[in-house]
Amino acid sequence: MSHSNKPGDSAGAISDVAAPKTIPARASTRDSRRTTDAQPGLSGLADGVLEKWLGETGQPAFRAQQIRDSIWRHNAGTPGELRGLPGDIRAAVAAAFRVDTIDEDEVTVSDGGLTEKTLHRLSDGALVESVLMHYPARGFGGPGRPLHRERHTLCISSQAGCAVGCPFCATGELGFGRDLETAEIVDQVRHAARRLATAGHVLTNVVFMGMGEPLLNLDRVLDAVAILSDPRLFALGARHVVVSTSGVVPGIRRLTALGAQFTLAISLHAARDPLRDVLVPLNRRWPVAEVVAAARDHAYATGRRVSYEYVMISGVNDTEADADALARLLHGDLAHVNLIPMNPVAHTPWQASSPERVAQFAARVRHGGIGVTVRANRGQDAGAACGQLAADRAGEPSAPAVAHRREVIVRASEAALRGERSIERLPGPLEAAVKERAAHAGGPDRR
Ligand code: SAH
Ligand code: SF4
Repeated sequence: MSHSNKPGDSAGAISDVAAPKTIPARASTRDSRRTTDAQPGLSGLADGVLEKWLGETGQPAFRAQQIRDSIWRHNAGTPGELRGLPGDIRAAVAAAFRVDTIDEDEVTVSDGGLTEKTLHRLSDGALVESVLMHYPARGFGGPGRPLHRERHTLCISSQAGCAVGCPFCATGELGFGRDLETAEIVDQVRHAARRLATAGHVLTNVVFMGMGEPLLNLDRVLDAVAILSDPRLFALGARHVVVSTSGVVPGIRRLTALGAQFTLAISLHAARDPLRDVLVPLNRRWPVAEVVAAARDHAYATGRRVSYEYVMISGVNDTEADADALARLLHGDLAHVNLIPMNPVAHTPWQASSPERVAQFAARVRHGGIGVTVRANRGQDAGAACGQLAADRAGEPSAPAVAHRREVIVRASEAALRGERSIERLPGPLEAAVKERAAHAGGPDRR
């Protein structure tokens, strides 16, 4: 199913308080060395940019608030939806900026309507994915009151593709495409808010668990979180945001220094270096102990529990020894583990652990004193594995290519499964990405 998702007149998750005349200063985290987009998206602009542009084009400054109202209160997606502007100014705005940075959406609904996966086509043709998950209210919390309120969670992408190359991940197999601009991150959220509004719902949570490594595009991700949590813009509490990382230690340290109030999730997947070197190649640069030390410092500095994601792969990382190593690693920490049975992905030789194995593993880690939740897999019938739709669009790999890839993964993991550390170097493209980006992630232990 393919259709354009240009909006109607519906507002997103915006509080209905009267909009103030000016927007308070928001510290811009944008690196000034970065080149700026020739026609930036309106939803990603830093403070003062609209006012400056209006001044340069001889327009009154109050137009800036009109434009922001259109974007944030009315979720405008086309120049025609910029309200209250004379035609010539509207045309000038649309020539200088993009009202929407996403050209087209293709939506696939699964899980009986509980999961909606969207493939977004960006202005330059790049494809990224977001997944909207609906969680109905449940439990009894008193007369007429559910114990758990309904939630609508959106999983968004921060990059097209990913340089990290985890062998169980469809995005990793695609390789790195490019960073997303701030507006391209935020517009995924505006599109979902629009879809929800047509059904009378409001977006409650945003998680950076789609395509890409958020901490290797950290400036834009921080800008996007600031915009999404600004009470005068998208108005989603920072506490309703989760940013997941495969372990970019300088980036984690920078979040700690900034006192970031969103939840940090670490994609761990293995507690021992030899295996994690294979499952999360970034581990060869920042090994498990360094990642967990940074996450631990973050938890204690911010008072916020860190989530550890652990994809369960049959016969690879799901043994009793793995469970014990995980419990030992996180013992005494402000931490919680989410176990996620692996979604099947064409190019990997691996399968998800059985439900019984997952339950035994969970019990063993809990016995070690760590909180554990087993996460349900959403949207398996819709190619739910992160990056899978985009990978399908990139063309079916040939059978020999898949067989070769599987063989390489099996070979790479052989020594790891014996507990031996055999690979130390980062793959070339990942080495380059880390060199270029981790330097300006700017943490105290930058290297
Ligand atoms: N790059 C970041 C954020 C995006 S990936 C990171 O890795 O943390 C978000 C989550 O999806 C990660 O925990 C990742 O390990 C998980 N994931 C990727 N492929 C998967 C698969 N085939 N099955 C289940 N989870 C998967
Ligand atoms: Fe990148 Fe995350 Fe996929 Fe690993 S799991 S390849 S870090 S998107």
